[in-house]
Amino acid sequence: MDIKVITFDLDNTLWDVEPALLRAEKVQQDWLRQHRPGAVEAYDHDGLWEFKKAIWKRYPQLRHHVSKFRIQTLYELQVAAGYSEQESRSGAEQAFALFLEQRQQVQLYAEALSVLDTLSSRFTLGALTNGNADVYKTDAGDYFDFAFLAEDIGLGKPHPDMFHAALQRTGVEPCNVVHVGDDPEHDIAGARAVGMHTVWMNAREKTWPNGPPPSREISNLQQLPQAIAEIAAD
Ligand SMILES: [Mg+2]
Repeated sequence: MDIKVITFDLDNTLWDVEPALLRAEKVQQDWLRQHRPGAVEAYDHDGLWEFKKAIWKRYPQLRHHVSKFRIQTLYELQVAAGYSEQESRSGAEQAFALFLEQRQQVQLYAEALSVLDTLSSRFTLGALTNGNADVYKTDAGDYFDFAFLAEDIGLGKPHPDMFHAALQRTGVEPCNVVHVGDDPEHDIAGARAVGMHTVWMNAREKTWPNGPPPSREISNLQQLPQAIAEIAAD
């Protein structure tokens, strides 16, 4: 197998996204409590979840646009609390800007940079994410030749459009690509369906769910160069 391109999922593949998301949610909530009192206080976790689900139902296309969806939620929370359309729009933008700033402050897995450095000398590296992380705002940015967000493509993984975008950009065949990701369905089943090789990044050492297994499984990025070498030798 002639492997030329490695594509990466980002959240929970190159970094643990949880700490950044928790911080981001907190600054967003703090801003609302301070500047739009009454907009979020009435909701507990489940209540907020119901509120979001109702928005998804009304705007199913926002499922693949995590940023637009969050802005819409922020907007509707304020409208529901009696704020004017204008206040709610500007409030949504300000709260979202704070959210996104924190959300981008991710801490790469300790071994990520050296592994990316090694791989980037031999392969074209790309990012494919359903989230709104910007790899170019992290220390890993220098190693990436391209990055596609589901919200730019219009459909998220496992939809083939995301993987086709990478093929189109690099001009290689699916059999020349290894996709690395933590999500069995979005990353592994999705990439496999278009004919790419797959590496399941299983940092939490879960059991593989049902369905065709990945080409290789790793629990630490340090194992990735070896996994790719094995795929190339298959
Ligand atoms: Mg992920």
